[in-house]
Amino acid sequence: MMDRLVIIGLGLIGGSLALAAKQRGLCNQVIGCGRDPEKLVGAIGLGIVDQVSGDWEQAVAGADMVVVASPVNAVEAVFERIADCVGTDTIITDVGSTKGSVIAAAQRAFGHLPNNFVPAHPIAGTEYSGYEHAQADLFVDHKVILTPHAGSAVAAIEKVSALWQAVGSEVVQMDSSTHDQVLAATSHLPHMLVFTLMKMMADRDDHQAIFDFAAGGFRDFTRIASSDPKMWRAIALANDKEVIDLLTQYQAQLGELVEKLADGDGDYLQQLFSDAKLARDTHLVKPNE
Ligand code: NAP
Repeated sequence: MMDRLVIIGLGLIGGSLALAAKQRGLCNQVIGCGRDPEKLVGAIGLGIVDQVSGDWEQAVAGADMVVVASPVNAVEAVFERIADCVGTDTIITDVGSTKGSVIAAAQRAFGHLPNNFVPAHPIAGTEYSGYEHAQADLFVDHKVILTPHAGSAVAAIEKVSALWQAVGSEVVQMDSSTHDQVLAATSHLPHMLVFTLMKMMADRDDHQAIFDFAAGGFRDFTRIASSDPKMWRAIALANDKEVIDLLTQYQAQLGELVEKLADGDGDYLQQLFSDAKLARDTHLVKPNE
């Protein structure tokens, strides 16, 4: 069991991890750090943390583990602020949705990649933000990807793995560039598509009729367009090359679809839809769904 767990950025993900750790008795003390600790006081009453602090330097000194749960474009400034106060025995990790950018930020902020630094990304979340939406079971049965750098110490990797396993997650490891490619496909591209679709529909003169008649499929498909625009601005820019690559491929596929539709090529359409259905049924539908 850990003595002190410090979470910097007590939002949905940081708050959910804090709550899960406290409810499962994984540490003696959880401290939530934010830019304005006054705004975090409510998290004590909700049982998410034991203490809140704006004095990050003091909070991280002597901590067993520091989890940086800020937006990916803010991680570097957080690392810079704690670099001189965090002990060499303290494990440093994060939850950012992009990993290459976080590792590059750590390299710049610390001047090297600390061997007690283990980047991580829980593949769980919702479209809501803030600790008020924290859920203790958010990570149960979800994967967490660790992307250790070449110098990450085995003991540090084991401790970060143990934390995530203890809150119910399945831990997997991959290198940061594979992570960023895979997540661009499974998460970043879909967000770009639905943000664009919703904006396109909202800008139409007949948008009221469109939204009045939007049924379950449209709502399901566009749910993630309710995600935090600031967080997604940061993610898109942090993984821009992978996202541009996939958007370009998708654009080409859409161009072909438009041409085949204009040609009335039903065989093409049926083959496309069949291949897509087979792929989804094979890879994403669970046996009892
Ligand atoms: P969130 O609910 O908005 O929380 C982020 C927290 O970061 C805020 O509570 C805020 O705390 C702090 N923050 C915001 N801007 C900051 C800045 N400029 N400098 C320092 N701190 C700042 O977001 P979240 O959904 O928990 O996401 C947190 C991280 O998890 C992100 O890196 C995201 O990529 C990753 N992630 C998100 C999901 C998801 O589905 N939401 C899933 C997996 C991973 P204060 O205002 O108190 O400082």
